[in-house]
Amino acid sequence: MKDCLFCKIANGEIPSYTLYEDDLVKVFLDINPVSQGHCLIIPKKHYENMLDVDKEIVSHSLDVARKVYKILNDKLNMDGLTITQNNMYGQEVKHYHIHLIPRYEKDNLLYKRAKNKIDVEKLFEKIKGN
Ligand code: 5GP
Ligand code: ZN
Repeated sequence: MKDCLFCKIANGEIPSYTLYEDDLVKVFLDINPVSQGHCLIIPKKHYENMLDVDKEIVSHSLDVARKVYKILNDKLNMDGLTITQNNMYGQEVKHYHIHLIPRYEKDNLLYKRAKNKIDVEKLFEKIKGN
């Protein structure tokens, strides 16, 4: 797609530190990482988010995520891996991508709980009720 940053990275028009690439996807280091080894998996074809992305791409991306996890795990002294994928709010680049975020115990950086306690029972009723 014209003027899409990740389409340009996908086709090599904009350079990236590429860790893995095949016909369908590319994996490269995030330019502004939240942890050592933070990288992004993008489809080479343009999709906006998880609502329009091809299911096969998602499935393939998870296979690739596993490969890259092994590579990162071999090279970095990481304690775990978190996968995130933003849609609409919180999504800066409107080209579908999956974040692979190596976790380090010492960083303790992601997933703070919501400030106000959430009533899980009420919430369940709201989601399931008609
Ligand atoms: P989002 O907020 O859309 O889920 O994530 C977009 C990610 O893309 C951010 O983590 C941001 O640092 C990364 N990013 C933005 N521009 C570039 C770029 O030009 N090159 C690379 N490698 N990463 C980028
Ligand atoms: Zn794109």
